[in-house]
Amino acid sequence: MSKWHLSPDELRRAASHLPRVDLAHLPTPLEEVPRFADFLDGGVRIFVKRDDCTGTLFGGNKTRHNEFILGEVLRRDCDCVVWGAGIQSNNCRQTAAACAHLGLDCYLCLCPTGHGTEVQGNLLLDYLVGAHVEIVNARLGPELELLLHERGERLRAEGRRPFVWNKREIRPLGAISYALCLAEIIEQMRRRELEPDAIYVATTGTTAAGLILGKAVLGLSAHIRAVYPLRWGWDVRADLADVANEAAALLRLPHRFTPQEVDATEAFVGPGYGVLTEQAREAFRLMATYEGILLDPVYTAKALAALIDDVRQHHRKPGSNLVFIHTGGQPAVFAYREDLWPVRS
Ligand SMILES: *Cc1c(COP(=O)(O)O)cnc(C)c1O
Repeated sequence: MSKWHLSPDELRRAASHLPRVDLAHLPTPLEEVPRFADFLDGGVRIFVKRDDCTGTLFGGNKTRHNEFILGEVLRRDCDCVVWGAGIQSNNCRQTAAACAHLGLDCYLCLCPTGHGTEVQGNLLLDYLVGAHVEIVNARLGPELELLLHERGERLRAEGRRPFVWNKREIRPLGAISYALCLAEIIEQMRRRELEPDAIYVATTGTTAAGLILGKAVLGLSAHIRAVYPLRWGWDVRADLADVANEAAALLRLPHRFTPQEVDATEAFVGPGYGVLTEQAREAFRLMATYEGILLDPVYTAKALAALIDDVRQHHRKPGSNLVFIHTGGQPAVFAYREDLWPVRS
């Protein structure tokens, strides 16, 4: 091992100077899904990292992110947060619950993203845990960020101490939590005397950046397959490298990445964010009916579609060990009922 490789414990120590709150049920289980793997018939073994089981109001990857993000919010002595995303945002739902637990007020600005404004799924949960919800007419991205900033200024004018969601600060902190998740996965695989050959995850920039960093720091050879559920208007490889670099700097580690070292795919988006594709529908149905594991229609079904496609295209050798990180999102199924049921095969 090169001197730049750390053990899982050393990586955890490198993160120990950062403020962190205890929110997630860790380690999450790593479960093999042999019936699903047999169905694919590619001779591979498949393991699901159950980050849908991180706790905090139905779990998901944002609960790991929030251990560091809300740690920083508390360190700054903020008394409320301003978050925003689509109406069925898993991020906002997990953040609203964590805020309730920590005694912070949570202001959400939610944009319509095609699945109506019915109080169902994640939106229902936001209300039930006491978030202050505002439905806004903005597009995801810079337009929404400007609106969040303005909401924060209004609260500040009222004498509050808000922490406003912003890409620049939030994403490196979230990424660190997924470098640590990879340490968990490695330990769980090694207990089975296995090493992962490829790791699949749905990401819009944060979670996969953490895995890219973790892979380099821990000295792994596994292929990190970052699967996008939407098309940003920017180069996602450069973006992932940037976030991984900022996370490494926060950990005071020397690792740095270039876009050329990063793999990411937008091939499974289909018509757009939150719109199911036939491949995602199949992935959803297979995992549900072969393993009793529910994916979500927006992120994880599209990421699993990438794994299925890789196996069918013989991009994974027989005997390979594939890890699929289940990043959560199941409450959205209640808002997407019409896309998922009746079940079509
Ligand atoms: C937010 C989310 C993702 C993507 O997370 P990033 O922070 O963009 O990497 C993946 N899956 C689910 C279920 C999510 O809610």
